[in-house]
Amino acid sequence: MRPRKSSKVSSGPDRARGPLQPYCGLVRLTIIGCSGSFPGPDSPASSYLLEAEGFRMLIDLGNGALGVMQRHVGLFDIDAICLSHLHADHCLDLTSYWVARRYAPEGPQPPIPVYAPERAAERMALAYGLEPDPGMTDTFTFTTLTPGTRRIGPFLITTRRMNHPVETYGFRVEHGGRIVAYSADTGPCEALVDLSRRADLLLCEASFLDGPGLPGNLHLTGRQAGEHAERAGVRHLVLTHLVPWNDKECSFAEASGTFTGPISLAVPGQEFELTPSGPLPM
Ligand SMILES: [Zn+2]
Ligand SMILES: [Zn+2]
Repeated sequence: MRPRKSSKVSSGPDRARGPLQPYCGLVRLTIIGCSGSFPGPDSPASSYLLEAEGFRMLIDLGNGALGVMQRHVGLFDIDAICLSHLHADHCLDLTSYWVARRYAPEGPQPPIPVYAPERAAERMALAYGLEPDPGMTDTFTFTTLTPGTRRIGPFLITTRRMNHPVETYGFRVEHGGRIVAYSADTGPCEALVDLSRRADLLLCEASFLDGPGLPGNLHLTGRQAGEHAERAGVRHLVLTHLVPWNDKECSFAEASGTFTGPISLAVPGQEFELTPSGPLPM
């Protein structure tokens, strides 16, 4: 695994980098946006790009993310989208992406799958001001998420319900013997420990700073993120969903007190490359 911060600053996609070659087994994670609850001055809200075998999948597309996404991947080169939940900071730029794909100068782009909680098609249509039928179904093929395991492109993906006021899914993404887990938004829960068990990398939210009177079913502190990661035996903890009005270094310090492995603070443009752990597929 090679964490590195991208030095790219251009507004166009890095076409020279191109998709990952087929069967190389590598998983690449790019942080598109990691600002918690609303966009900050230095980051869009939540969005993460996962690539393997030339397949490109977004998990979450929060407000502001579609713009920054184009620094890392061509506007129409996304193969699938997963939405953890329907809070605006995780899903709202799907409405902008519908406009881009639907009204592209070269013609409407082919539909791509969107995996999301119940009623996502209707909610997204209403957010844009469309009638729910047909809404965005000319551009996105919506599949309702449920707890369980499914294959999306080359990835084996397990979803579990998290501890958040609305229907919210955490993700475990496996490929090439490597595991990336994502907490989405959650308060403390055993499901997050199960989902991230022995993950190579856990993207874990750390929205709150430690203190008295925090609600129990909403978000995690850095300390709690570290506790969950430690219990799950995670190799590398990446703190994300960092709320602009908090001091990130406090979140890092809290997690350092409970997690014994390496910790990173998510940064937009940051890439993690996970090389395959086992034999390559033939
Ligand atoms: Zn959120
Ligand atoms: Zn939320």
